[in-house]
Amino acid sequence: MTVTKQSHIFQGTVAARVPLVVSGDGIYITVEDPETGERTQLLDAMTGAAVGALGWGDPEVHKIMAEAAKETQYSYPAYLGNDYAEDLAEFYINNSPSGAFASALWTGSGSEANENALKIIRQYFLERNMPKKTKFVSRNSSYHGYTIGSLSIGSSARAKMFEDILLPSSQCIKVDPCYTYRNKLEGETDEEYGTRLIDQFEQVILREGADTVAAIIVETLPGSSLGTTPPPKNYLPGIRALCNKYDVVFMLDEVMCGTGRANPNGGLNCWENWLGEGEGPDIQLVGKTLGSGYVTIAGVLVSPKIHAAYVNGSGTIMGAHTYSGHAFNCRVALKIQERVKELKLTENIFKVGNYLGKQLKEKLSSSSIVGNVRGIGGFWSAELVKDKVTKECFDVDLKVGPNLQKICFSNGVTVMGMQGCNKGVGDHIMFAPAFTLTHDQADEIVEIVVKSVAQLEQSLD
Ligand code: PLP
Repeated sequence: MTVTKQSHIFQGTVAARVPLVVSGDGIYITVEDPETGERTQLLDAMTGAAVGALGWGDPEVHKIMAEAAKETQYSYPAYLGNDYAEDLAEFYINNSPSGAFASALWTGSGSEANENALKIIRQYFLERNMPKKTKFVSRNSSYHGYTIGSLSIGSSARAKMFEDILLPSSQCIKVDPCYTYRNKLEGETDEEYGTRLIDQFEQVILREGADTVAAIIVETLPGSSLGTTPPPKNYLPGIRALCNKYDVVFMLDEVMCGTGRANPNGGLNCWENWLGEGEGPDIQLVGKTLGSGYVTIAGVLVSPKIHAAYVNGSGTIMGAHTYSGHAFNCRVALKIQERVKELKLTENIFKVGNYLGKQLKEKLSSSSIVGNVRGIGGFWSAELVKDKVTKECFDVDLKVGPNLQKICFSNGVTVMGMQGCNKGVGDHIMFAPAFTLTHDQADEIVEIVVKSVAQLEQSLD
């Protein structure tokens, strides 16, 4: 008789035990069945929740971590600092377009970064004696994390059960997402679609009064919420212009798509695909690949404009988290980023990732259930549809996205399978491999995914 062990970890699926990760090597992870102890190697095309920049088990990172353990000391961020938090901020500033950022707050997670950003924006307007600016305008079908503040500016099926305890909807206003595949009208050009969405933001600002609107918040390349849908070319520049016009903070969430995953210039920021020097966000959030899965670190990057308001105002940021700017995490993250830069891995993932996307597009084009393949650099998705012509979504209860994830796992590759929602968002699977990806590994991923999609298709007949 098999004895089912109870998990003592209160996260994820509590009713059943999930596979345990026991080791990692480059682009592969080894997982263990918690019941049988059987081990399987998987090609890690998703790196958890898109965290992987360097591959797994990197001996250089292990060396860095050993050094950091010996040589760093904890400092309480409210009144003490450390060089490593400073150096990591300097690295981000120096490797971003000139003048984009002045400083950074290093946090433990992307949700915590979003939470802090809302407070930073609030205090920014108080520093400028504009207390009425309290409203955040973000998008339906977006994801910014699982804390109360980040759920309030997000809007996905995941937020639904918490609706009654979120910030009021009069303060967290939602507009349409940018979802070209489904929401661009027939006959509309990409540019016209972008303009229509910008107009919607402007209408909200005019309706609410610019003196009450604090920020526009969007994911640069939405990840788990909408599946890596690139915006039309004029979309982000249009939001930048609106924010300038109405004195509204332009906040970009790059927790999933940023820090080298989809940068066209061998740099860090995803927005550089659409915005030039002097056009960047006022506040930007980063996470995931910053620590590459080795350390828990995320952050809020602050532009010179925001930074100056604090310096010229009270001079103090209200609030401190015990582990913000932790020396060990910052030192390891910095070394990881330096190594990514030295090995030109951002360039590599942009090139090989685009190859992966092209192959996925080509090889999945004959599948009757793949409606759209989209993405940039190292961040791709395939959206699953019941009918390719009408783009009809699968019934959400069929869970075709999560089911495809399971099939891919059993065939030896990790992807993230997302369930659609009844508001017209389709199921999809996502890809976010380590930046070390090779062409051969990309081919292997595509081959396994094509086979897995065919199996899913058969099971739906
Ligand atoms: N923002 C975006 C765009 C994300 O994709 C995520 C996580 O997936 C978060 C914020 C939350 O980050 P974390 O899970 O580290 O709290």
